[in-house]
Amino acid sequence: MRSAVLFALVALTLPISASAFLDAGLGEPVAFEREPPRATVRPASIALGIPGNGRLRHGVRFPPRGAGFFTWDPVRREVPNRPGRRWGTDRLVRLLLRVIAEYRAVHPEAPRVGIGDLGRRRGGPFGPVHATHQNGLDADVYYPRRDRRERPPTTAAQIDRRLAQDLVDRFVAAEAELVYVGPNTGFTGPPGVVQVLWNHDNHLHVRIRPDSRYRDR
Ligand SMILES: [Zn+2]
Repeated sequence: MRSAVLFALVALTLPISASAFLDAGLGEPVAFEREPPRATVRPASIALGIPGNGRLRHGVRFPPRGAGFFTWDPVRREVPNRPGRRWGTDRLVRLLLRVIAEYRAVHPEAPRVGIGDLGRRRGGPFGPVHATHQNGLDADVYYPRRDRRERPPTTAAQIDRRLAQDLVDRFVAAEAELVYVGPNTGFTGPPGVVQVLWNHDNHLHVRIRPDSRYRDR
């Protein structure tokens, strides 16, 4: 009888723990078994304004590292990225984790994916590096390197082109609103979604659509 009760408790806990990857910003990601119940009642994130002039409400912090990714601080040039630079909407964080998981499942031999800046905890100006990244819908993702080192490539020649194009394709398939790629990368995709922008030869920039229910409310 007692083991049956225990089993039921564990079964009840599992769906909650599935969101353990989402960091509520109350410390580093907690262990799988210790996910606090409040994770289930967290209000949905709200992206206010536009990426170039916006705010973020109820943001979620991207974890500092995981089985399939590392984070990179583009200013200090070190792993992991600082906590204050890893905030996005819950949908952005989930999309990144899902794309990374699917990519890793298909490319188990690939190096871990490098994630750069998302946004500030409450959004707003994130300069001087970024003109956008202001309302939780933007993230920088470093192209995988041919030498598998876990840091951004410094030249386009260092990029593992096959893996990087696959990452671009996966963000397109995940219905990203746009993906910026660098002029020397040669990466392609649907016109209007995959766009060439200077300063993106070592990372792609993915932007997701705002949830229309919450836009500018
Ligand atoms: Zn960016």
